[in-house]
Amino acid sequence: MKYELPPLVYAAGDLAPHLSAETLEYHHGKHHLAYVNNLNNLLPGSPFEEATLETMIRKAEGGIFNNAAQVWNHAFYFATFSSSGKKTPSGTIAKAIDAEYGSFEGFREAFTKAATTLFGSGWAWLCMKPDGRLTITQESNAGNPLRSGLVPLMTCDVWEHAYYIDYRNRRPDYIKGFWELLDWKIIGERYDEALKK
Ligand code: MN
Repeated sequence: MKYELPPLVYAAGDLAPHLSAETLEYHHGKHHLAYVNNLNNLLPGSPFEEATLETMIRKAEGGIFNNAAQVWNHAFYFATFSSSGKKTPSGTIAKAIDAEYGSFEGFREAFTKAATTLFGSGWAWLCMKPDGRLTITQESNAGNPLRSGLVPLMTCDVWEHAYYIDYRNRRPDYIKGFWELLDWKIIGERYDEALKK
């Protein structure tokens, strides 16, 4: 199977000023693309030649795991943004957030802390546990919570390449802008879908 770079569903400049067109052109057009190309180079002759990305995330190790997970993680991350999205959760996911974190504000604080304190490169995640409740996890490098049986709902890329052009070393400022870009309609639909399974 040959993987392709999934296109962004918005223009590179649409997320400014929180993320610039230049950041998107590098992050999507160069970094995400490199993971796709690396994976396509690693797959021929491997046991994962016909596997889905999810299978590789669950079962593969080394280069195939790293690149398959980074292909999936970036597609998932970029697909959560919208320039005119729903800024706050509602419906089922809002109830689940209130149940776990007291309020949306409480959740924002807990997630921001996870993203800010993650040491080095990696991803902070909002996930659904098998019992339907929410949890926040930190994953290093290419880590993806599918590997531990959780359902990813939202993620923040805290690799420096995600923010260095716009924010230099100021990860907390990047995370502040990140909240402005999330579309809670998309995240809410992911949660409703996950609850059905
Ligand atoms: Mn990245």
